[in-house]
Amino acid sequence: MKIKQKTIKNIAEVEGVGLHTGKKVKVTFKPAPPNTGILFIRTDIPSSPVIKAEIDNLLDIEKYPRRTSLGNQGCEIHTVEHLLSALYALEIDNLIVEINGEECPGLDGSAISFVEIIKKAGIEEYDEEKEVIYLKEPIYISQNGAHIIALPYDKLRISYTLNYPNSPLKSQFASFIIDPDTYEKEIAAARTFCLQEEVENLKSLGLGKGSDYSNTLVISKDGVINNNFRFEDEPVRHKIVDLIGDLALLGKRICCHIIGIRSGHSLNTKLIKKIKEVTKKEKVAGIGAPTLSQIPSQTFEIEDIEKIIPHRYPFLLVDKIVEIQEGKRAIGIKNVSINEWFFQGHFPGRPVMPGVLIVEAMAQVAGVLMLSKKENRGKLAYFMSIDKVKFRKTVRPGDQLIIEVEVVKLKSKVGLINGKTYVDGKVAAEASLMFTVVDA
Ligand code: ZN
Repeated sequence: MKIKQKTIKNIAEVEGVGLHTGKKVKVTFKPAPPNTGILFIRTDIPSSPVIKAEIDNLLDIEKYPRRTSLGNQGCEIHTVEHLLSALYALEIDNLIVEINGEECPGLDGSAISFVEIIKKAGIEEYDEEKEVIYLKEPIYISQNGAHIIALPYDKLRISYTLNYPNSPLKSQFASFIIDPDTYEKEIAAARTFCLQEEVENLKSLGLGKGSDYSNTLVISKDGVINNNFRFEDEPVRHKIVDLIGDLALLGKRICCHIIGIRSGHSLNTKLIKKIKEVTKKEKVAGIGAPTLSQIPSQTFEIEDIEKIIPHRYPFLLVDKIVEIQEGKRAIGIKNVSINEWFFQGHFPGRPVMPGVLIVEAMAQVAGVLMLSKKENRGKLAYFMSIDKVKFRKTVRPGDQLIIEVEVVKLKSKVGLINGKTYVDGKVAAEASLMFTVVDA
């Protein structure tokens, strides 16, 4: 699935009071070019420092409890989660957020005003694609009786169980597939809340200076004080608002099923860090490189590959097939080591992988794609032509080739396939390959 990057069409503004600082603040949203991400700019500081909304800029949650705070070189922005939640759910990938204070405005305590402002500003789609992460293995984190789990899933689903034992708030559960419409109708309007018994403590910590009964649901044993719920289960829906806000710090779209059980910012952000770590290891997700797109998808180890194509050492140039969609697309991996036979002579003292062998590696991945079909098993794929070959980057020992082949045309005996080879997220070589399938 290919997803285009988005920003807003027109400049938009909003003013309000920070929920914790109680300070008045003005925020201006401006369109930003592709691959910018969400950038906060503190316009009240003479040097106008920039803080990118990403997990590496997260401030210590122990030090700044009950909110998500970002910081960079001594400059801080607090309570970003409701704004980031709305941006993430509306799929706004690139945006400049100018702010003349240290805390985002709390508005009505939910994310709905941010949704309305962004929709009014209009959404602009770029040609550039957005990287989407597909989780491949479950992740599970537990801490002090709270849990967060992320499972492979082909969309973004969030499920949450709210449960405070011995409290006036009864257990609640909600689960949604997150898309812009569902978010706007079912989630965005859910307001922040606290228990009446927590109010004293929060005030003594200097928090909630901008909170009142209208923007914060205060829950006592008799129900919500001086207010009414917008949804019967408004608190659990707000926990989902917060979780999406924290997820935005990933800086990438993700498809998975996240299950939170009593989790808050601390556990949520630990999950984001873990997802980042796991997906970084899967080098396949380098910027600009192909991302794995099908769950579940078939993979082939070297033993499987040797059953499909006849190539052997020293001429087998693919180590693993990490994804194969029959008749459509395959992604293969080749780890290039200094021990490759061709480095002995190409060139002594300056090892560079021959470009024609990168083309051969693409042809082998394409061969696996064509011959893995049941009716083609045991046959051979012969090269008929190579076209539009371009070498864009030298390949050296230690590089990992990520080889993506896509079918352009496929008839019973002839296939036209486009191949691209990436190293560190950049295209190293590309070519258009034509094959014919013959009996062995
Ligand atoms: Zn919140």
